Amino acid sequence: TASRNKIPATLIPGDGIGPEIVDVVERVFDALGSPYEWERRQAGLNALEQGGDLLPEATLDSIRRTGLALKGPLTTPVGGGFRSVNVRLREAFQLYANVRPARTIIPGGRYENIDLVLVRENLEGLYVGHEHYVPIDDDPHAVAMATGINTRAGSRRIAQFAFDYAVRNRRRKVTIVHKANVLKALTGLFLETARQVASGYEGRVEVDERIVDACAMQLVLNPWQFDVIVSTNLFGDILSDQIAGLVGGLGMAPGANIGDKAAIFEAVHGSAPDIAGQGKANPSALLLAGALMLDHSGLFNEAQRLRAAIDAVLATDSGRTHDLGGSVSTSAFGDLLTERLRG
Ligand code: NAD
Repeated sequence: TASRNKIPATLIPGDGIGPEIVDVVERVFDALGSPYEWERRQAGLNALEQGGDLLPEATLDSIRRTGLALKGPLTTPVGGGFRSVNVRLREAFQLYANVRPARTIIPGGRYENIDLVLVRENLEGLYVGHEHYVPIDDDPHAVAMATGINTRAGSRRIAQFAFDYAVRNRRRKVTIVHKANVLKALTGLFLETARQVASGYEGRVEVDERIVDACAMQLVLNPWQFDVIVSTNLFGDILSDQIAGLVGGLGMAPGANIGDKAAIFEAVHGSAPDIAGQGKANPSALLLAGALMLDHSGLFNEAQRLRAAIDAVLATDSGRTHDLGGSVSTSAFGDLLTERLRG
């Protein structure tokens, strides 16, 4: 209703095609009834050029306040020793869960009726970056070493998140993916802890286990057997791109980075500098990230309306952007969506 209080949320236009697709997001959310009060903040190359910082304090402040951000793609400058803004955000807000749903939207692809969700641990594992070389004789890089770190607390947190997510979103099964047969300590701890968490959900969510290599094969042979998959950082990274491939690639894939104090939603694709400013960008992935944010806010009705409208527009030949073989422009795609939502 018109009197409902709006939820404050940070909106980051980003670089390249970011501003064009964020513009569509704003219009579409207006048509949905404006559930959010947007605070527009900068990050990325545009922020660096204007204020000398890829991730300005004002943007961090806004996210600290709202605990909720929708982020356009950011260009990370090559060279110059800049740390990825995405990694900085993950660390600053302890965004321990990365959620990547994959759902068939456009029929006629390699697989029909795919609907699964990968939950990836985002802060531990082999991604903590403790790497070094050991010199032998005159070769300074004779040996390369990396240390992975999994903690019981971190494993419990991500497993709990995955099972809670399954309950909240009426998912039937969670598959724990590991390599505990070889990495007995590192991923054994994760498996053991995830099993303990699973036992608390008996009767509510089915539990299943897979070794990561077998899981990769089965995702190709019979992806329909999976529902929610939970895994450690590196395996989750690889499997999340694999499941995006099952539904037609990264172009339509949304992602969420979730912590206890903040959640940041984004498209999986980058800033696409090759098509920036040409009206060729497909805003679907960022819109679907917006739907994940609505889910996160408990606005399930709005999320469902948004997904249904995106599905309906993409199902028509005249509703396909350039990347999908059509010719509708970014903003005209936004018009089709807002018309549909306004009925
Ligand atoms: P990219 O995803 O930007 O582009 C890859 C290809 O896909 C390009 O041909 C592009 O035109 C196309 N594409 C991507 N999104 C599209 C969309 N919405 N509609 C239509 N076509 C689309 O990957 P890249 O070229 O490797 O990276 C460009 C920049 O983006 C780099 O600076 C990279 O660091 C950054 N990046 C940012 C994020 C993020 O912020 N989450 C993620 C990946 C890459």
